[in-house]
Amino acid sequence: MPLEIPGAKHLHSGKVRDLYEWQDGQLLMVASDRISAYDFILEPPIPDKGEILTRMSLWWFDQLSDIVPHHVISTDVPEVVAGRAVICEKLDMFPVECVARGYLTGSGLTDYQTTGEVCGIALPAGLVDGSKLPEPIFTPATKADFGEHDENVSYEAVVDTIGAESAEALRSLTLAVYSRAEEIARSRGIILADTKFEFGTRPDGTIVLADEVLTPDSSRFWPADTYGPGKTQDSFDKQIVRNWLTSDASGWDRASNTQPPHLPAEIVEKTRGRYIQAYEQLTAHPFR
Ligand code: ATP
Ligand code: MG
Repeated sequence: MPLEIPGAKHLHSGKVRDLYEWQDGQLLMVASDRISAYDFILEPPIPDKGEILTRMSLWWFDQLSDIVPHHVISTDVPEVVAGRAVICEKLDMFPVECVARGYLTGSGLTDYQTTGEVCGIALPAGLVDGSKLPEPIFTPATKADFGEHDENVSYEAVVDTIGAESAEALRSLTLAVYSRAEEIARSRGIILADTKFEFGTRPDGTIVLADEVLTPDSSRFWPADTYGPGKTQDSFDKQIVRNWLTSDASGWDRASNTQPPHLPAEIVEKTRGRYIQAYEQLTAHPFR
């Protein structure tokens, strides 16, 4: 259940974040310590995860602010959510998950293996899991309802939904932000394989970067030193959790579609360490 926060009215809870109405035209966005995998919210939460992801997102917004304005107004938030929340502009959100991919994996790889294309973009033959693409591509998806998977869609479908002008603006911003972030990550020994952005508009029509950005929950970060195409890459995200869930040790059958078992303390601690490592390696700031 979302926290009771003085002065804020609860609006929405996703798998990981809770959204509250703040004052006029503003929202309070709280990142919880919840972790999700295979579309389930797992137990227990990962201590400090909400704070780590909030700080990472703020750091990135700062690195990107000359490319696109962002939605954060302040980090001066109520004490109960200190460190893990931001006050942001309430935007009119585009109903499009703006994904950029520089490498082929995940749902992009699955689509490519079936059709040779991702979101209607034809790719060269012979690519494998983890292949670097000839150039980064914009692979939009529709925002799925709670518990559903997002669905990759063609650029034309985005044009039909939001119009040609907005579609072009989102595509070019997505690719511009991805390139900047990819370059920064690469300089820190991290490959930004793909990432998802959400944009919205201000009342005056300005397009603004919203949601969280470039966290392990919205992106695939791979350590550059163990990267190599043709295998499942190590990653900074939930790999430890996923590996445990699908191992014999967990006793969980993914196909059963039942709630996964509680994560052991050791897995929780390792996962927390991984999130901290991602933060520290990217930003070059100590977490504590
Ligand atoms: P999921 O758990 O699958 O991600 P979700 O996207 O509904 O579900 P969250 O990501 O936790 O849940 O919720 C954040 C919500 O806030 C999203 O619906 C996102 O589009 C919306 N959002 C983010 N930034 C803004 C903003 N500046 N103005 C309005 N809505 C925003
Ligand atoms: Mg979301």
